[in-house]
Formats: sequence, structure tokens, C-alpha cells
Amino acid sequence: MPSILDDMPASLLHESTQGHAVRVPVTVAYGDGIGPEIMKATLRILDAAGAALDYEPIELGEAVYLRGITAGIEPEAWESIRRNRVLLKAPITTPQGGGYKSMNVTLRKTLGLYANVRPAVAYAPFVRTRHPQMDVVIVRENEEDLYGGIEHQQTDEVVQCLKLVSRPGCERIIRHAFEYARANGRRKVTCMTKDNIMKKTDGLFHQVFDEVAAQYPDVANEHLIIDIGAARLADTPEMFDVIVTLNLYGDIISDIAAQVAGSVGLAPSANIGEHAAMFEAIHGSAPQIARQGIANPSGLLLSAVMMLVHVGQPQVAEKIHNAWLRTIEEGIHTADIYAETISSRRVGTDEFADAVIERLGLLPRMLAAVRYAAEQAKSKPEGISYTRPIAATKQLVGVDVFLDWRGTNPDELGEKLRAAGSANLSLSMITNRGVKVWPNGMPETFCTDHWRCRFHAPVDARIAPEEMLALLGRVHALGFDFIKTEHLYTFNGKAGYSLGQGQ
Ligand code: NAD
Repeated sequence: MPSILDDMPASLLHESTQGHAVRVPVTVAYGDGIGPEIMKATLRILDAAGAALDYEPIELGEAVYLRGITAGIEPEAWESIRRNRVLLKAPITTPQGGGYKSMNVTLRKTLGLYANVRPAVAYAPFVRTRHPQMDVVIVRENEEDLYGGIEHQQTDEVVQCLKLVSRPGCERIIRHAFEYARANGRRKVTCMTKDNIMKKTDGLFHQVFDEVAAQYPDVANEHLIIDIGAARLADTPEMFDVIVTLNLYGDIISDIAAQVAGSVGLAPSANIGEHAAMFEAIHGSAPQIARQGIANPSGLLLSAVMMLVHVGQPQVAEKIHNAWLRTIEEGIHTADIYAETISSRRVGTDEFADAVIERLGLLPRMLAAVRYAAEQAKSKPEGISYTRPIAATKQLVGVDVFLDWRGTNPDELGEKLRAAGSANLSLSMITNRGVKVWPNGMPETFCTDHWRCRFHAPVDARIAPEEMLALLGRVHALGFDFIKTEHLYTFNGKAGYSLGQGQ
């Protein structure tokens, strides 16, 4: 039954009118492999620190998959997550093969968790790293880009994956990055895209970044092309503070960042949406070390710290995080980060948790202590609203007709296909894998069986949809196999489509 809470932002649900934290119900998934061990250790630390949380366990992952539920999650688990709006999740094992869906992608997209926030911090000299000053937060768009999973085989030789980027998607994630920077005293937000190549999709992300950045004059901003950005992140991560980027780039560079920080096993993450949030370590279920009691619970514990800030218990978050820093500093290390020259004691999962519990209330001596100011608890995405712009004047000016054609000579195709054109819609260009091959193509260009044939109106002319349908009829009548079309529009007179390479 819908409740009044349905329209309330998740983070506001858990604060009492006196400003004291009230007990917050949290859905907990123990996961697979090392999941149950690290989750038990994490919850033990949370309880010892006085976190005001009530845990509601759900089953997620391998056991559910193996019962034949390809999504890996059952309706009762969905209900719990939707009711509590906060999920602390241990890693799960995705069975190999079969039609199993990625649980993470399912959870993120179904719950609208648009922001994936991944801090990557060096703990030098206590954890080995080449970049002792590194302290970067990657804010990755979590729902769009190539992760729509919209893929098609179109010819024998060519498959395609649709890259979708929306203005609201860009605006929400970029605002989230700037709000995060502001609330956490960060100085700079760097945007990374490949808009020198993808001028429409990545171009929109960059354009919205510039628009939003102008509204945050107190936070510095810059843009880097993703390839040099990733290279610099691996080489000089100290130059970055907050990075905001599209889904695929963010997925890749956040693993690079965690690795060069020297601590993939320590890295936490938050997946934040308007209605719910999910917190998890970035590592997987490490089945080869499961049930040995040696796994490092730190990634999940630091994710739980992010969760405590999110639900309005920053004091508890601070207490745990500082005790954890003190433990790391004292050289009490699990096997994955243990080094004879640095560590003082090699411990298992439970012993590590005991050590953190013993240090609750202590601050680190050398590493900087964390301070989760009260404002941080309020830095929530509910402040991020989207206003749809006034609709542009949209004009149909042509159509790209894609053909499955097994010929090899573009001139032959051009000559035959010209006959399908009309006075208002004539063949202007043919490309193969984006490169112009007609008219005046180069014989060196390799061609597949997938041809994009552009029919365009004379300058400034508008086409009626019926003319496009008639064109397709003529293309078909000439014996060509058209496999898809893309309409060419102008928006307020500006072309909404890219030119062919070499055009
Ligand atoms: P993994 O992260 O599980 O393991 C990579 C390496 O890191 C292994 O050597 C492992 O022993 C080590 N490691 C990881 N976490 C550790 C920890 N907390 N303490 C000590 N050592 C740790 O990656 P993988 O082997 O590629 O994947 C294993 C399974 O996990 C797969 O089924 C994969 O699909 C799944 N997975 C799940 C998630 C998730 O649920 N969020 C994320 C990644 C992978």
C-alpha cells in the first residue's frame, strides 16, 4: 500500500525532530564467498560503535540464481529494499554462463541509483602505494551510456550497442559531484569525456558539465579527454580531487584509482539515488579464500561508514573510521595488505574486527583523522532537481538508411541507390563503419556488409514522414535489405546528427 513515505527522500526518513538519530532499518545482504564473514565482522563493529541500526537480512545472489531465478533476487527481497531504502550489500558470486543477469546493474537501474561514489585513498606509509598523497573520489554515472544493454546483431558481420546519454542523467550526476565536493570540502571537480570523438553523447555530458560548473564558482573545474585523464590518474593521481564521468569510463578508472591507491581490498562505494541507496565494497566474493577467516572486511566496513553518514549518523561513522585508521596505522593487517617491513601483526577477519572495536574512540596518530561534519549528513541528492528545458523546434531533414549489402564496391551501391532518391530526399553520402566511402571514397577503406546511406533534403527544407516511408518503399523495391533507419533532425536549426568521417 503506498504510504506518505513514498514521496519522502530516503535520507530524511531517519532523523527525529530533536535531531537525534533514531533507529534506522537497513536491509542487509550477506552475499556469497567471503561475503558472510566480512558482513558479520562489519556488523559487529557497527554495533560496538553504537550505530542505531536495525538489520533486515535478505538473500541475494548465488543461491537465488541457482534456484533458477535469473535476476538473482526474489520479490520479498525487493520489498525489503524498497521499504527500507538502504541496502548494505556484501559481494555476490555471479555463476558463469547461463542467462544470469548482473545483480549490480539490476539493483542500480531498478532502484534508480544514478550516482556511484567511489573514494580511492592512499594510506601510506601503512599500506604500500606509489602515490602516498592520493585522495580521489570518482563520481560515476550509474544508469546510462553503454550500460543500457541495448545490443543488436544487424548483419552477418556487424553488431551494435546503443550509447544513450540524457540531459537529466548528465545534470543529476554532475550536480551530485559538485554538491559532494562542496559538502566534503573538496576543491576541484574534473570531468572526463571523449567528446573529441563522440560529439553528441560525450559532447552533451561536457556541455552540461560547463553549465553546472558555472553555478558552483567556489569549486574549481576542468575537463580532460578520458584517455589522457586515465593516464594521469595512473601516473599523478595527486592532481585530482573529485572526478565525474560517464558510466563505462567511470567503471574503468575507479578500478585503476583503487589499484594505484594500493588497496583494492580497502575501497568502499556508495550507489545513491533519489529513493534508495546501496553500499558495498568494490571487490568481489573472492571464493578462493572463503570460509578461511582471512578476508579483509575493510572495503565493506568503509562502505558501512558511508552508509552511516547517509542515514544521518555521522558521529558513529567518524568514530568507526578513525578507529579503523588507527588499526591500520598500528600495523594490524589482514593477509592481503600484510607486509613484513610495515605490518606489526597479521590477523584474520575476526581479529581485525576486534582490533577496530578496541580502538573505538581513538584517533589516528599520523594519518589525518576524518571529520564527518553535520553538513555532510545533509548533502543528499534530494536537493538535485531537474527542470525540463522548453521544447526545441524540431525539423525532419533527412534519414540514414542502414543496409545489409554484401557487395564490395561503394560506387556500385551509390549508383544503384541513387535511383531510390527523390527531389526532396536525395542520396548525399554512404559510410561504412562511420567512414565516408561514397561519393569519392578511398579504395584503401575496408568495408563490411553494413552500410549507412544518408538521404538528405535540400538546405532548409523540411520532410514529411510520408516521404521517408515512400523512400524506404523504393529502397526495398530496388532489392536492398534495409535493417534500420535513423531520422535526421535539426533542433532550433542546429543539426542533431554527426557528419560522416571524411565528409
Ligand atoms: P574478487 O574481487 O573477488 O577477487 C580478486 C582478488 O582479490 C582475489 O585474489 C581475492 O582473493 C582478492 N580479494 C578480494 N577481496 C578481498 C578481501 N576482502 N580480502 C582479501 N582478499 C580479497 O574478484 P573476482 O575473483 O574477479 O570475482 C569473484 C566473484 O565475485 C565473481 O563471481 C564475480 O562475478 C563476483 N564479483 C562480485 C562483485 C559484487 O558483488 N559487487 C564485484 C566484483 C566481482
